[in-house]
Amino acid sequence: MTVDALAEKVRQGGRLDSAEALFLYREAPTHLLGQLAHAARTRRHPDPIVTYIIDRNVNYTNICVARCNFCAFYREVGAADGYVLGFEEIFRKIQETIEVGGNQLLLQGGHNPDLPIEWYEDLFRAVKARFKDFKLHALSPPEVIHISRLARLSVQEVIGRLVEAGLDSIPGGGAEILVDRVRTLLHCHTKATADEWIGVMRHAHQAGLRTTATMMYGTVETDAERVEHLMRLRALQDETGGFTAFITWSFQPERTELGGVEATGVEYLRTLALSRLVLDNFDNLQASWVTQGGKVGQLSLTFGANDMGSVMIEENVVRAAGASYCMDELEIVLNIEDAGYAAKRRNMHYEIVGNPIVRLRDVPRMRSLATARAAGDTSVPEELVLYPARSRQVKSRRAKVQS
Ligand code: SF4
Repeated sequence: MTVDALAEKVRQGGRLDSAEALFLYREAPTHLLGQLAHAARTRRHPDPIVTYIIDRNVNYTNICVARCNFCAFYREVGAADGYVLGFEEIFRKIQETIEVGGNQLLLQGGHNPDLPIEWYEDLFRAVKARFKDFKLHALSPPEVIHISRLARLSVQEVIGRLVEAGLDSIPGGGAEILVDRVRTLLHCHTKATADEWIGVMRHAHQAGLRTTATMMYGTVETDAERVEHLMRLRALQDETGGFTAFITWSFQPERTELGGVEATGVEYLRTLALSRLVLDNFDNLQASWVTQGGKVGQLSLTFGANDMGSVMIEENVVRAAGASYCMDELEIVLNIEDAGYAAKRRNMHYEIVGNPIVRLRDVPRMRSLATARAAGDTSVPEELVLYPARSRQVKSRRAKVQS
């Protein structure tokens, strides 16, 4: 096995096996990985276009019983700064998103034991009743599993009920690295094993949903385990064809129990390029400017990415771990154009829906990201009393409100 022989195989459109992918990742110079990934991206997307979406990343609750050791976002049940957003707060966030040209909500949150499936169904129905064409890209596989365990329903039943209520697509969060040795060390195997994560996505694809896939690297995994993760995604994509896109980002260590040092920008670009080469059945790869910043995000466009992800109106999770890059639509568009591409808005299915809004009308500049809740706001949404609680703390609190 040589780098030259593998490079030639990739140029000819050949498929890498695990050993070949690992060899190339370890041995190929960075510029060669970039060239190969860019050629693979250009074969799939010959037009010089980079897409992005205007959406809002809303975290409906930060209360979580999973307690992953790489997470700086969650709060335990009963914590003073734990929150659940109210329906009205979420409607307001959607209205603000629509006003700047947005068309979907990326809605994810902690594994809150006091939110039964009916809360999600009522929320989704209410959103669809108010905002007919607005899309809900919501609830990563571990959240679906959490809801299924609380409701004592199968994953298929939960997906069926949520789709009925208005779920449009499932985000690929919670994948971290799809190897159980790694998941055990990250304290995230109980929220979903690798097989369980894959299983939710398989059911979602079989139910007709398109989903994304992700990889968070840079914690305790080996290079071989990164490759194994990509191979698992590729195998499911061969089987179902249900993934629209792949997004990878580096672990953000600040304020996490796991700690450590963040992977470098070069490692990000090498990992992104490898992903493009291994995931030869994925159409779209996003640049993770949210963790890497705008300039590495721009470089990503020559290392395999064809999409700039989302104009983030709000972000809570990555910011909790120390990264708080902010780019509004104009900045995303300028980054794309300065890299030599035309910028196009897309929808969740990666269909182009138009030119940048900022080129069509005046849009207020957004120079800072919104948060789920203003600091110090401890208000509790009125509708929560309608839903049965599971945790002792919240059960007694809701009983007091009702008496
Ligand atoms: S990563 Fe998600 S599931 Fe894990 S502790 Fe954080 S909020 Fe909970």
